[in-house]
Amino acid sequence: MHKKLFIPGPVEVKEDVLQKMATPMIGHRTKEASKLQRDISEKVMKLFYTENQVLLSTSSGTGLMEAAIRSCTRKKAAVFAVGNFGKRWHQMAVANGVDADLFEVEWGKPTTAKQVDEVLKTGEYDLITVTHNETSTGIMNPVDEIGEVVKKYPDVVFCLDTVSSAAGAKIEVDKWGVDICITSTQKALGLPPGLAICTISKKAIEAAKEVENRGFYLDLLRLYEYIEKKDHQYPSTPSIPHMYALDYQLDRILEEGLENRFERHQEMADYVRAWAKEHFELIADEDYASNTLTNIKNTKDIDIKELNRKLGMRGFMVSNGYGKLKGKAFRIAHMADTTLPEIKELLRNIEDILGL
Ligand SMILES: *Cc1c(COP(=O)(O)O)cnc(C)c1O
Repeated sequence: MHKKLFIPGPVEVKEDVLQKMATPMIGHRTKEASKLQRDISEKVMKLFYTENQVLLSTSSGTGLMEAAIRSCTRKKAAVFAVGNFGKRWHQMAVANGVDADLFEVEWGKPTTAKQVDEVLKTGEYDLITVTHNETSTGIMNPVDEIGEVVKKYPDVVFCLDTVSSAAGAKIEVDKWGVDICITSTQKALGLPPGLAICTISKKAIEAAKEVENRGFYLDLLRLYEYIEKKDHQYPSTPSIPHMYALDYQLDRILEEGLENRFERHQEMADYVRAWAKEHFELIADEDYASNTLTNIKNTKDIDIKELNRKLGMRGFMVSNGYGKLKGKAFRIAHMADTTLPEIKELLRNIEDILGL
């Protein structure tokens, strides 16, 4: 039996979207390929409220995160982490020989504008990374406030991980001053995994020009220059099936209406949070709780593996806690094309299994 996914990626993908992956192939050096890329870019720009260029990478989101920190750090990067995915940027910097410092907070707390200001004040850093929505803790950081602070430091390239929030919450790239905004297909966008997407500012490109060793496949400058000069094509063969599905899904998203889509996510989040507080507790500080997933503290000491096994027999799947929260928390994703009635059905089944 297919298990309906309520995990924070991969998510359920609509049948018609899946079908687009089976579109007959076109050459990647054709006018059709250029048009497909241009159409996707225009729609992604709407999704992120930006005039910045859009780049696709045939990798998961991690690929573009590594690309950003490696391609654009000239002096030193400041990595702000509120959980596992935030820390990954630091691992990437170390693995690539990029100078970087890690600034962490207690799990369940956000990165604040004040913390970012204090770090940038030192003048040591010319790139920062922030996680918009930390999937391991269920925190959504106040990036609008952080953006205001970063604007005081015009040399700093601002990289933002929106892997688990893009298309599930409003992300205003130009207003917030985000230079590189990264996401991937298999979370709130509601597509199969395998493609990463970013918006990139001129400032980030100028920074990349000053970096000597940017790698090859994930060199953001090389990708950007190809898109600009070669009529929106890529240096290597992109995942054309994903591009067809993405183009189609972006039409669906814009048809739903961005505000409507964000509102639907808000309603699901409010519902799951209220349920979690009634029966358990939240891991995240509620003022900064994510609108695309809820991380629930296992206060009743339930066997989460067993819960998932029983849910599986009924055709559902939720997620265990991530990293050090495994067994101590469980996560319910409410993102992409999931609806409130589906969430209610899932929660009724959990109540039934646990005798709540
Ligand atoms: C899933 C996730 C990633 C990793 O993305 P991949 O597409 O699996 O590489 C990074 N950051 C956050 C916040 C995520 O949720």
